[in-house]
Amino acid sequence: MSATIIDGKAFAAELRGKAAKAVDRIRAETGDVPGLAVVLVGEDPASDIYVRSKNKMTTECGMRSFVHRLDADVPEAQLLELVETLNADSAVNGILVQLPLPDHVDANLVLASIDPAKDVDGFHVSNVGLLGTGQPAMVPCTPLGCLMLLKSQLGDLTGMNAVVLGRSNIVGKPMAQLLLGESCTVTIAHSRTRDLAEVTRRADILVTAVGRPEMVTGDDLKVGATVIDVGINRVERDGKKRLVGDCHFASCVEVAGAITPVPGGVGPMTIACLLKNTITAFCRARGLDEPEELTL
Ligand code: NAP
Repeated sequence: MSATIIDGKAFAAELRGKAAKAVDRIRAETGDVPGLAVVLVGEDPASDIYVRSKNKMTTECGMRSFVHRLDADVPEAQLLELVETLNADSAVNGILVQLPLPDHVDANLVLASIDPAKDVDGFHVSNVGLLGTGQPAMVPCTPLGCLMLLKSQLGDLTGMNAVVLGRSNIVGKPMAQLLLGESCTVTIAHSRTRDLAEVTRRADILVTAVGRPEMVTGDDLKVGATVIDVGINRVERDGKKRLVGDCHFASCVEVAGAITPVPGGVGPMTIACLLKNTITAFCRARGLDEPEELTL
């Protein structure tokens, strides 16, 4: 058996196209467009690449993009002041502070200073609480993208056994909440889980968000499972740098029913969902209905 490859790159391109159409309609209706502000502290090369592509895709979609670059040694108070300014700026509907932040900055304090209504990353405790209690929230982009891919593949997820491997605040925990919201039976596994393979082999849906190259193999899967590989791991093979997921693709593809590749699976969905969240924030701020084509 060879699994269906879930093409996240194509799905994300389609979602960005729908976002661009929604922005056109919003412009025609309101004379305004949503705006996204991204704050980058320091010069981490990976973060710089993410911020550049967020900026490019935001403008390509017809929205306003504001990028604020601060030195690595910026005082925490100055960063908080910038967030306050963005909170008060009506042209800014979404605020994203690129993580990781330097050690001298308290990331939790900075995230807590973002207006929850503009928290398009969904990391503010208010949004975490809203998601956990099943209320309309800003949902973290990567898990939201995973859920979209799952629903596109499987439709109704009710009653399925879902295992989320990883319990981080940005991927594992919100992913588990989303799957619970879809009426899956959810297990969260982590580094202290006993007999991990026994747990993953029960999964109709397996989401891996670990950050360990190719740790999940075909032997760890239920036959026909749908596997969403969030992991992005940089490895060197035959002298060449490559990206691999948390799943050993060659063996998993023989057992799974469907699987996301790395790269080209979950990764492209994250920015597409950031655009979607920024449009959602704009619509909620104006009391407009969210564009139907962007809802799950
Ligand atoms: P993280 O904060 O480091 O969390 C990793 C989780 O994996 C932890 O809960 C940890 O358990 C668990 N874990 C570590 N080793 C394990 C093992 N041997 N067995 C079982 N569980 C284990 O990572 P993250 O931020 O969630 O990111 C996870 C991966 O997703 C990374 O590769 C990251 O680059 C990628 N990612 C991709 C995107 C995207 O856009 N596609 C976005 C975000 C992250 P403990 O809690 O017990 O330590």
